[in-house]
Order: sequence, then C-alpha cells, then structure tokens
Amino acid sequence: MIQMEGQSHIQISRLKTRMEKMAQIGATVRGGVSRLALTDQEKEARTLFIQWLKESNLEVRVDDFGNIYGRLEGKDPSASPVMTGSHLDTVPKGGKFDGTLGVLAALEAIETIKESGIKPVRPVEIVSFTNEEGARFAPQMLGSGAITGKFSKEYVYHRTDQHGITFQSELERIGYLGEEKNRPGKIASFIELHIEQGPILEKENISVGIVEGIAGFTWLEVTLSGQSDHSGSTPMTMRKDSLVAASAIIQEIYNWAMAKQDGTVATVGKVRTVPGIINAIPGETAFSIDIRNPNPVQLTACVEEVKEIIIRISNENHIDYKMDKIGSNEPVHFSPYLIDTLEKVCKEIQQPYKKMISGAGHDSMYINQVTDTVMIFVPSKDGKSHCEEEHTSWDDIEKGVNILYQALCRLVTSND
Ligand SMILES: [Zn+2]
Repeated sequence: MIQMEGQSHIQISRLKTRMEKMAQIGATVRGGVSRLALTDQEKEARTLFIQWLKESNLEVRVDDFGNIYGRLEGKDPSASPVMTGSHLDTVPKGGKFDGTLGVLAALEAIETIKESGIKPVRPVEIVSFTNEEGARFAPQMLGSGAITGKFSKEYVYHRTDQHGITFQSELERIGYLGEEKNRPGKIASFIELHIEQGPILEKENISVGIVEGIAGFTWLEVTLSGQSDHSGSTPMTMRKDSLVAASAIIQEIYNWAMAKQDGTVATVGKVRTVPGIINAIPGETAFSIDIRNPNPVQLTACVEEVKEIIIRISNENHIDYKMDKIGSNEPVHFSPYLIDTLEKVCKEIQQPYKKMISGAGHDSMYINQVTDTVMIFVPSKDGKSHCEEEHTSWDDIEKGVNILYQALCRLVTSND
C-alpha cells in the first residue's frame, strides 16, 4: 500500500499566484482574458508555462501540433505515463479559469506529489493541448484530436483563421512547431480538471463533480420555404410567411425540451431570413437546432421528436421544409475504473461529490478514445463561462485540485 498517500496537501496560494499571473496575459479591461490559440498572447502564456515546468524540474517537450508536455519520471521509465492537463487558449473575452485551471492544477498536483516524498512508479505528465476552443481555428480540440487520430496532420495544418492564416504557419511563427516524436505514446490514464461551465454544482452547493461522460449532440439546419411578397400589397390571409412558421417551431421546441426534464437541452442559436429586408415577407427562413442528451438512444429519439414538430408545424402553415444534419457527436462514457477511483478518494477524505454529465465538449472526449479517461468539475459561479465574469471560488478549487492530487497519487504508484 501507499503509506505516504494523502499526507501532503496542495498549496492553494501557490496555484492562485500562478493563476493570477497567467490571467494577466491577454487580460481584458473587464477582468476576463482574450488569448486565442497561436496568437502572440498565447505564445507568451506557453512560454510562462514552460518556464514553470522547468522550474519544477519537469522534462519539457512540444509535439508537431504545439501540444506541450511536462514529465516527472517514474521508477519505471518504460511504464506508460499517467497524464493530466487541459488547455491555455481562450475564446475572445473569455474567462481566467476555463482550461488554464486544469493545466495549472495539474502542475500544482505534480509539485505536491514531489513534495510528499511519493516515488511514482509510472511517469506522470502534464499536458496543455493546442486550440481547444476552436475560436480561432475551427473545429474545436484540434490538438487532442490530432494526437488521437481524429484529425490528420494535413487537415489540422491547413485549418485557417478568419484572415486565411493557417494553423501551421502560426504554429511555426510563434516557435511552437515541435516534433512528431514528442507526441505521447501509450497513455496509462488521463484526468482533466475543469470548471463545470454550468450551474448545477453551485446550485447544489457541492464543490466536486465526478464527470461520468459528455452528452452527445446532433445539429440540424432547417430551411423553411414559403413565398416572398411585398409587405404592403399582400393581404394577411394570402401569405406564406416562413418566419412565422419558424417562430412557432422554435417556441414549440423550447416548450418540448422544457417539459422533458431528462437532461435534454435544445437550442436555436442562428436564424437567417431571405430576403431579410423590412418591406418583404420572408420567403425563406433557415435556422440551426442544437439538441443534446447524455443517452445515445434518447438522443436519437429526441431528434425524431424535433423533426416531427418541424413537419407538423410546416404543414399547418403550408410551408415547405428541408432538414439537414450538419453535425453530431456520440455521447462519451468515461472510464468506470477511474470514476470509481475518484469516488474512493472522495469518500476517504469525506469530500462530498456529485456524479454528473458534461454538457460541453472537452479534450477528454478525444483522449477517452485511446485510454481510460475521467474529468473532475469544480463549480462555476452563476453557471457562467466563456465570458469575463467566469469565476470559481478558491475554496472549491482547493477541494477539486486536492482530489486530482489524491487520485494521481493512486494512479502513479500502481503497476496495473
Ligand atoms: Zn475548456
């Protein structure tokens, strides 16, 4: 057994100091952070992070997608590493905690392991993944997707930002185009600590979430076609207004999702009308629908129910409809073994926790394809994230990072 396990405790003041320093890079006037992937700001964040890794005597490497690794060697260097981390990029006018907390919590946990006198059997590695947010280069999670085979190198390198600048040229420009041989080989297990980005933990007054999986989603694009006519000369009884039908559909989908109460969420976030002018009846209306549910069978059923609503209301309004599936992700189920490990750690130190599903995507989604993976959530104040108000209390952070530390202690000292 591990005699030393749990005897040390993470130093929240050290983590807080680092978080505050990192938040200065790309700081916005309203207390947020704008640090888009592969920009000068993000380069500065990378450089500071690497400086800290080196100060902690971790072995630093950068792979051919700019993912950064810091490694603490184990007694058995040939053993596959336990990995932990997240991302340093943000959305425009984002917060200080999304991603950065997971990266610097990992560093804090590894430093505590060193201070505790525990001799890891396995190596332990911190990772910071490139372009998690997808805010500059779509899609999201390019760095973790690339090393797990979701995206080809060719595909990743040719992603462009809104100015047509490629991922590869920016990676090169900021000096973070590393080597392919620096990608991780086999990973023993992966834990990512992240802010919840939702209101559940705060509402239930629980500091630690054990994430069992990530909700799957389906994205539909709906196009309704009616008749575009003059707004002044067409009587109300003779109109085929596609936007009126769309409004009824949107309201109905909202009511339907609200009534389900099984974790289903549905969102219409984008609406476009043609011709889109003040004095014409909208002949065509196109809108997006984002439907999510943690259960794959229920998700499929939800999509069918949404389609029925669209068909019914379109027919009632004598409007033609077209529905295209423009994106989807299967729900993700994290490792039962690691979920169990986190539960044991929480129970041992009497830390209340909640098992939950993530509504948002994370790097863990792709890493889960290649190794045992789990996530730890800490609460988001008012459920807010991807905004300058994003906040998590240091008391909650301390509890969450301590669970990460305790779980890593178990994993790095185990041979199996
Ligand atoms: Zn994130």
